[in-house]
Amino acid sequence: MTGFEAAAATAEYLRSIDPGREARAIAYTQGAHWILLWALLLKILADWLILRMRLLERVRDGVQRTRLRPKLAAFCCVSVFLLANWVILLPWAIYAEWAREISYGLSSQPLVPWIAQGAIVALFAALFLGLLATPVYALIRRSGRRWWRWSSLVVVVFAFVGIVVGPVAFGSLFNTAKPVPAGPVRTAVVALARDAGIPSDRIVVSNSASQTNRYTATVVGGPGFATIELSDEMLRSGADLAEVRAVVAHEIGHYVHHHLMILALVVAFLGTCGLWAVDRTFPYIARLAGRPDLSIGDPAGAPALHMALVTFMLLTSPIIVTAQRAVENDADMFGLSLANEPSGAARSLLRTVDFRASRPSALEETLFYDHPSIAHRIERAMQWKAVHPGQEGALR
Ligand SMILES: [Zn+2]
Repeated sequence: MTGFEAAAATAEYLRSIDPGREARAIAYTQGAHWILLWALLLKILADWLILRMRLLERVRDGVQRTRLRPKLAAFCCVSVFLLANWVILLPWAIYAEWAREISYGLSSQPLVPWIAQGAIVALFAALFLGLLATPVYALIRRSGRRWWRWSSLVVVVFAFVGIVVGPVAFGSLFNTAKPVPAGPVRTAVVALARDAGIPSDRIVVSNSASQTNRYTATVVGGPGFATIELSDEMLRSGADLAEVRAVVAHEIGHYVHHHLMILALVVAFLGTCGLWAVDRTFPYIARLAGRPDLSIGDPAGAPALHMALVTFMLLTSPIIVTAQRAVENDADMFGLSLANEPSGAARSLLRTVDFRASRPSALEETLFYDHPSIAHRIERAMQWKAVHPGQEGALR
């Protein structure tokens, strides 16, 4: 082809990022890595406090005094524990998840609705995980040291519900989804859906921008009930059609290749490994926390179990984000072949530079990035353009 250089084109795009904006993005992104570590330490501290207060013993004994079955004690202990945890960590969450987003200009949601929404999510999580814990504690009582093998079946079901079904339920709680309004964007979206062989009424506009100023589109749901949501921010900020086509085609890739199902399987597998790790480390952790009297089958020991689990989750998070990067890469390649918009893809990626530093080190990308870096994604789009000369934007 005549002189199109993928590397030079990539460098040109990256040069167009304002240096001040890039510096803020780096500060935001690297600060977020440290926040993972501080969050772990604070969670462990909150767990330790709840253990020392013997809060869950009181819940357990209170429930058992009413001669209700131990199942209810497990449900109540875990739900109360998670709610107490949320309350203790609320000041930290306000800093890390609200004030910080505001200070970087990534959110404009007022504090009170933010807390109200967080409380609703915490309540649902407490009920959901309380329900998850009930069969797990029953299995610990019944099957002794083999409990974690049987519990893996429970984890598979809950990973599917949490990742594939949950966002649909929560999305409808906080956001209203409308059909894409008539106009050039709708025409482009319908054409892409037709080319990909999916129903175009599965692509909607969501008002998620009231919670975030981010420029996003997402897939929620699973086979038969999946939906692609475009944030109204994306339409409002005057995206050009090549960008819209690139972004929607990427999301169609997630939809068609069932990426959420794949990620749910990865989470379920790691969750099973996590249960095994919890089983092995629980006695040591209970001793370290000053509560050697607690056994793993006692729901009052849920905070010690949580300590083991959150540590395991942080240590294995590079595996999860690597799986996420793999499916994102797959969606990028699908999107390029469907929409044929490498330049549109590059321009849409440049819009995301504020919340994901564009050129992380290889180690940083491997450990922390749930999407390939912007530099890598633009590079691949330009490589694609180099081997498909003169076809850009061509409707099929
Ligand atoms: Zn994606």
